[in-house]
Amino acid sequence: MKYLEEYRNREATEVFLKKISETVTRPWKIMEICGGQTHGLVRNGILELLPQEVQMIHGPGCPVCVTPKSLIDMAVQLMEQGVIMCSFGDMVRVPGTSKSLLQAKADGGDLRILYSPIEAVTVARENPDREVVFFAVGFETTAPANALSVLHAKKEGLTNFSLLVSHVLVPPAMEAILEDEFCAIDAFLGAGHVCAIMGMEAYFPIAERYKVPIVVTGFEPLDLAEGIYMAVKQLEEKRVEVENQYSRVVKREGNTAAIKVIEEVFEISQREWRGIGPIPDSGFRLKEAYADFDAERKFQVRSNTSEQASGCIAGEILKGLKKPHECKFFGKECTPAQPLGAPMVSSEGACAAYYHFSGNLIKN
Ligand code: SF4
Repeated sequence: MKYLEEYRNREATEVFLKKISETVTRPWKIMEICGGQTHGLVRNGILELLPQEVQMIHGPGCPVCVTPKSLIDMAVQLMEQGVIMCSFGDMVRVPGTSKSLLQAKADGGDLRILYSPIEAVTVARENPDREVVFFAVGFETTAPANALSVLHAKKEGLTNFSLLVSHVLVPPAMEAILEDEFCAIDAFLGAGHVCAIMGMEAYFPIAERYKVPIVVTGFEPLDLAEGIYMAVKQLEEKRVEVENQYSRVVKREGNTAAIKVIEEVFEISQREWRGIGPIPDSGFRLKEAYADFDAERKFQVRSNTSEQASGCIAGEILKGLKKPHECKFFGKECTPAQPLGAPMVSSEGACAAYYHFSGNLIKN
């Protein structure tokens, strides 16, 4: 398949791994923002092939992992009120305060696992006597489809459809990480799919203000090795730039049609990040004009959940301060079958990635 198989080519990937070894002269810490990149690094054994000097830090780019417990509690409350809750499959096992969506379903709730928010509009059309809520979780990448679902529902005159919004944005999270007093990150791999939608403009002021190189990077082994090489090269040459390794997909201005749809429906707001806390201007909420489609406003559901009461150190992992195996529960009390925290649930979570693929990563 064009643009896929060649980026999984072992020999081509090894060329960049060799270049990294030849270029690096001192220790560097590079954070990959995206959970998909974390899985790519772990699944393909790239962490083990990097020279000792290059340490990858796994960032908060897994939307399931950073969705606050309070929103899961709200979704459970809505199910208990008789709402049809629609969600992507990876959200349904994430622990809330007392139960997950799957446990709420076992208790009699109506949960539909869907592949697209547009399917939830269909569910609303077919169930005019029931309220239907789509759990709109994700980074900038999923925002256009969620926005479109609202536009479709409005056009059809559906009054029984709404979104429970948990949209988070990457650039404010990067700034929050860089502002942390213990932050020791030297460079970032930017999330390629997020930049495919939103473009690269937001990253130039971050690179400039914090003097940190940013390389927008894809997800295949060759992408990751090349992105790390470009970051190491910048660091060794004392350059601070925003570079684009993923130029076959990402344009500097992003996808202008998708941005237009997002801006029609959503506005920037503060968001709570699980394990990190509130970050100003770090998410989307529905604009006032679409308040009728906002489940939080429509149903007045609230949660006073306190995060991380279980002893899960997801916050430190998501900020890159600790590795999954440094958690005392890793692989013992906390496994994908019985997760204590969200990073062990999602396929993009760092804890799950280490659990599934990292027989010998414990040294990294
Ligand atoms: S191993 Fe489990 S308890 Fe520990 S940080 Fe990861 S998700 Fe939380």
